[in-house]
Amino acid sequence: MSGGVHTKTLTVFLDRDGTIIENLPFPNVNEPAKVRLLPGAAEGVRQLNDMGCRVIVVTNQAGISNPENDLTYERYQAVSERMRALIEERAGGRIDDEFCCPHARDANCPCRKPRTGLFLQSMQRYPDIRPDRSFVVGDRADDILAGKALGARTVLVRTGHGPATAEELAGTPNAPDWVVEDLLQGARVIGDARDTHKLL
Ligand SMILES: [Mg+2]
Ligand SMILES: [Zn+2]
Repeated sequence: MSGGVHTKTLTVFLDRDGTIIENLPFPNVNEPAKVRLLPGAAEGVRQLNDMGCRVIVVTNQAGISNPENDLTYERYQAVSERMRALIEERAGGRIDDEFCCPHARDANCPCRKPRTGLFLQSMQRYPDIRPDRSFVVGDRADDILAGKALGARTVLVRTGHGPATAEELAGTPNAPDWVVEDLLQGARVIGDARDTHKLL
């Protein structure tokens, strides 16, 4: 390493539901007791930590704006706290920060993925984030499209809605840079890309 470079110049943005924790049928994960980590998720986060990456969760939570979901902002936070505790418990992994869009799908807010508002919020808080040194990992087209709009590299996991999304995007200009089985494999391709492109 040569002089003065921030130690966390790589940022990895992770989707939450379907990428780190299991999706559930409507009304989805609306309380801490329903949180189940996906295979490889805790280990993937830990590996990203060990690589010196900053790990930021970016999540659409339109359920907060829909009374039928029985999800308040406080309950959403409790779910994420439980997720972080399980990641720590299982693998010693750490999420550095989290940004959430609480708005309804049809609200046309600037932050619901595939828009980039959550990423821009994170760049306000961490001004050293650079899209060309960032990765976006998720299971939906909205995650991949947001990553591309940001100018980041994109990783589609085949957990959650990943298999359907892989089919949807294959061969289109919106195809992700990598398709992987789970977050642990995602961490590995990010490590390989870092080495190949000398990103750190
Ligand atoms: Mg998802
Ligand atoms: Zn929003």
